[in-house]
Amino acid sequence: MKPRAFEYVRASSLDEVFATLDNHGDDAKILAGGQSLIAAMNMRFAAPEVIVDVNGVEALKGIRVEGDRLRIGAMSRHVDVLNSADVAKYAPLISQTMPSIAHATIRNRGTFGGSLCNADPASELPASTIALGAVFNIQSSSGSHTVSAQDFFQGTYATALEDNEVLVSVDLPITTPESHPFFDEIARRLGDYPMAGLAAQADVVGGVISNARLVFFAVSEVAVNAKSAATLLDGQPASEVDVEAVCDALATDIEPFADLTTSAEAKMHLMKVLLRRAVSAWAGKGA
Ligand SMILES: Cc1cc2nc3c(=O)[nH]c(=O)nc-3n(C[C@H](O)[C@H](O)[C@H](O)COP(=O)(O)OP(=O)(O)OC[C@H]3O[C@@H](n4cnc5c(N)ncnc54)[C@H](O)[C@@H]3O)c2cc1C
Repeated sequence: MKPRAFEYVRASSLDEVFATLDNHGDDAKILAGGQSLIAAMNMRFAAPEVIVDVNGVEALKGIRVEGDRLRIGAMSRHVDVLNSADVAKYAPLISQTMPSIAHATIRNRGTFGGSLCNADPASELPASTIALGAVFNIQSSSGSHTVSAQDFFQGTYATALEDNEVLVSVDLPITTPESHPFFDEIARRLGDYPMAGLAAQADVVGGVISNARLVFFAVSEVAVNAKSAATLLDGQPASEVDVEAVCDALATDIEPFADLTTSAEAKMHLMKVLLRRAVSAWAGKGA
């Protein structure tokens, strides 16, 4: 199918983006990598009157260390995040996440910020940014503010962004040496959206787990931080965890939904498989 006719604006500065968004409200959409927006327009799920192409806006680009944070510009392509030595060193959970996002051709165009703003419940980056305690930097013509990753995602394809706001960058706390990331997902085919996934991080010192964060995705409208299960891990030697008790606690944290391919029961089963893998990966770390 073809999209409805639209006006195309190629912005070269944030001020130009803000001016277009202010003039057109929810009739305007930002175009980043176009890997989700253009498909939605072609299928007429989205029919903006104006699209604002932000590919020429330098303020949205770059990956750099700023104090105790790693800042990833919203327009960083997935492939650049995947290949970044800084991301591998300072936010390894994100490096582990990237290969699971779609296929190489899509990663060449798709962007870090576009994926987060799209807020697909089956997408990987919302969960990984929640697990890391990321902070999202948002701007509009009226100023700038920050939103935690936890509060940014509000539902299926729904975020805390107002119509006139732009996600400029994401700040990730630098991962400490005692902190161990775990990322895995279960999909029918490599590159497909998963049936269930887990982005997690925990400190393991002397073999003992603390500060565990277990964020499951593709199981609910938004990625879920499984706090009851994580609490049971805190203070436990990784090799002696009562894994089945932690798995049982998932029922307190998450009521999985069924989607077109996978029942709620199957998703709960897959979540437990992923959780066992995470605990097993942490056993023996930091001894
Ligand atoms: C076949 C296929 C398979 C895929 N598989 C996966 C997968 O397994 N996992 C996964 O996570 N993704 C997957 N994707 C989606 C891919 O990751 C996209 O890159 C991503 O969803 C959107 O990023 P984009 O840069 O292309 O954004 P766009 O499509 O340009 O925009 C997406 C939405 O975000 C808004 N937006 C973009 N940037 C900003 C910004 N800076 N501020 C405010 N709003 C903004 C746009 O207005 C639009 O509403 C897949 C896509 C395809 C086509």
